[in-house]
Amino acid sequence: MKKLIAGNWKMNGSLQANAALMYALLLDASDWACDVAVCVPPTYLSQVQGLVHGSRLDLGAQDVSEHEAGAFTGEVSAGMLKDFGVRYCIVGHSERRHYHQESDATVALKAQRALAAGITPIVCVGETLAQREAGLTEEVVKRQLAAVVHTNGHCISEIVLAYEPVWAIGTGKTASPQEAQQVHHVLRTQLQAASQHADRVRILYGGSMNASNAAALLAQPDIDGGLIGGAALKAPDFLSIVAAAR
Ligand code: PEP
Repeated sequence: MKKLIAGNWKMNGSLQANAALMYALLLDASDWACDVAVCVPPTYLSQVQGLVHGSRLDLGAQDVSEHEAGAFTGEVSAGMLKDFGVRYCIVGHSERRHYHQESDATVALKAQRALAAGITPIVCVGETLAQREAGLTEEVVKRQLAAVVHTNGHCISEIVLAYEPVWAIGTGKTASPQEAQQVHHVLRTQLQAASQHADRVRILYGGSMNASNAAALLAQPDIDGGLIGGAALKAPDFLSIVAAAR
């Protein structure tokens, strides 16, 4: 299966910085063996839509409302994202779960809204350090995925899943390839029980993936790509991860 490398810019960027980053990424695009996307803040969707037009880079968003439309000040709907050519949308990132108290049920609804609009949700799951130390990793990620499976039924094979151990995000600490593979295998097995098309779901690893650890992580049988935070903001770093995804 073709790997996917998706950059999560988080709340970073400016018109000028985005243009420079995109220019550097697009210069390299003819060499890519995998799918590549950038998930940008909503204010920059229009700019980046223009820059990726006709290229191999796909546009992504970082969140979507669980509601379709209406009196939800500050929210952005899946239909609005679709208007700007968004192909992927991150849902349930640990920063949203933590700072915005997003529940498993909310994350599942967001995935449903994205799918209904023809956008592929990148559903994030992952345990905190305390949960890992308490031996709860599998229980936590299975519970998080179960909510999305429950709400999305047979559409579950249309999602992208991202395993992002919270303790590895932005910390420089990465799960070892074996630790990550073990959790990816658990998630794959859970997907297989839910859908006969589970083998086509890409399961990304996220959490301090960088130029030097990407190849070993991406060589694992159930790691089908990466969700990249910090390293997605520097073209050479992001492009070396893309180059490792063959
Ligand atoms: C992320 O925010 O999804 C992420 C993986 O961040 P980082 O690569 O910076 O750990």
